[in-house]
Amino acid sequence: MAQGVPTRVDNVVIGGGIMGAAIARQLAKRGLGSILLIERDLIAAGASGRTGALLRQHYSNVPEASLASRSLNTFRNWNEAVGGDCGFVETGLIVTMPTLGDFEDNVPRMRSVTDQLRSLGVSIEMVDRDQLAAIDPAASFDDVGYATFESASGYVDAIAATRSMAVAATRAGAVILEGVAATRILATDSRVTGVETSAGAVETERVILAAGPWSPALAATIGIHLPITAQRVQIAIFQTPATLPHSARTYVDNVAAIFCRPWGVGRIMVGLGGGEVHDQVDPDHYAWSNDAGFPELTRKAAEARFPGFAQARYLHGHAGLYDMTPDGHPIIGPVGPDGCWVVAGFSGAGFKKGPAVGEAVAGAIAGDLIERALLEPFRLDRDWHTPWSPFEYRLAHDFGHGF
Ligand SMILES: Cc1cc2nc3c(=O)[nH]c(=O)nc-3n(C[C@H](O)[C@H](O)[C@H](O)COP(=O)(O)OP(=O)(O)OC[C@H]3O[C@@H](n4cnc5c(N)ncnc54)[C@H](O)[C@@H]3O)c2cc1C
Repeated sequence: MAQGVPTRVDNVVIGGGIMGAAIARQLAKRGLGSILLIERDLIAAGASGRTGALLRQHYSNVPEASLASRSLNTFRNWNEAVGGDCGFVETGLIVTMPTLGDFEDNVPRMRSVTDQLRSLGVSIEMVDRDQLAAIDPAASFDDVGYATFESASGYVDAIAATRSMAVAATRAGAVILEGVAATRILATDSRVTGVETSAGAVETERVILAAGPWSPALAATIGIHLPITAQRVQIAIFQTPATLPHSARTYVDNVAAIFCRPWGVGRIMVGLGGGEVHDQVDPDHYAWSNDAGFPELTRKAAEARFPGFAQARYLHGHAGLYDMTPDGHPIIGPVGPDGCWVVAGFSGAGFKKGPAVGEAVAGAIAGDLIERALLEPFRLDRDWHTPWSPFEYRLAHDFGHGF
């Protein structure tokens, strides 16, 4: 698999997840010179191959909602926009928030967020318990006051999407090498000069570092500190009985502390919200399979939403890594010496934004002022404590990323 790298290119993209693939494609489409994407393993070997790939647009902040909703258009029209198939399934997506008892203050927030999202063109409505029962007859909502429903959202097959984005990048002219690792970024005091790799050194004037939780180690080779840590998060796939109602909806359920979606016919994927089940790990040494107790923990949590889930059978599952930043929002922008960009720290919520991030990063590099303004809030030197929205929810469970 590993081949030698060219001696010189205009752009080196490090990391073959959805971000690297989308950026490489857009740089090529914009004619920004020669492009080499290096992936140390396989395309989609990182979070992009282990994700739930739920496509939620419900964010209380405008910058992330905009990226999510712009990307949804691409996922929905993948064949025309990218080429091939990303396995998009429109299930509609429910986001529950705690709104009962002590959490009543989330009700006006949800109203404001829904209005804000609608003004961005998102097809979303705020719904009460009775409306929810009609939207998903397979679920029980005794513990929910209000939720939102995005009718056009759903999920994709993440590996199919990332691979076809990578193929589209090569069609547009980018060169992709799997099995080639970046070992060091090379720079003078003022600008990037190249990348040292496991297959030799390549000279370049632009590096886009999109290596998820492995980005900090590479940024450190040019003296840049990225505040990104690796958090291990698990998902489990269950088979549900054919004789019980089967939920066809996608959920980010802040009340039951689960995120879930159909996983083919008769199966449901479930992940858990809750800091206590997410461990901070060394990204190079972590357990890829489910912990022994995870299926039972997950089954119990899902039972709160889906009566009868006690009879579901655990099939398989895995763990992946969230690249967490201090505020749960990504870092996107130029850092350090001229020519160096970082696109990482998506904090467990990046897949849905990948196509739009590719467009925005390539556009900003090309000098597009609108794309630059869109990416401004994601800069590395921001204040990590300032809320991103006046309507930020109060949550009962920690999902890692924000809402
Ligand atoms: C369990 C789980 C569930 C998730 N659920 C959702 C969800 O429902 N919706 C959503 O939007 N997001 C979700 N996410 C988050 C989402 O998957 C990520 O934010 C997104 O995939 C990140 O893409 P990326 O390209 O930035 O990183 P990655 O996909 O991690 O890609 C980074 C790549 O860099 C490569 N690399 C590392 N070091 C080097 C090196 N030295 N040289 C070359 N290559 C290198 C890695 O091998 C990897 O392929 C989930 C994540 C997990 C783990």
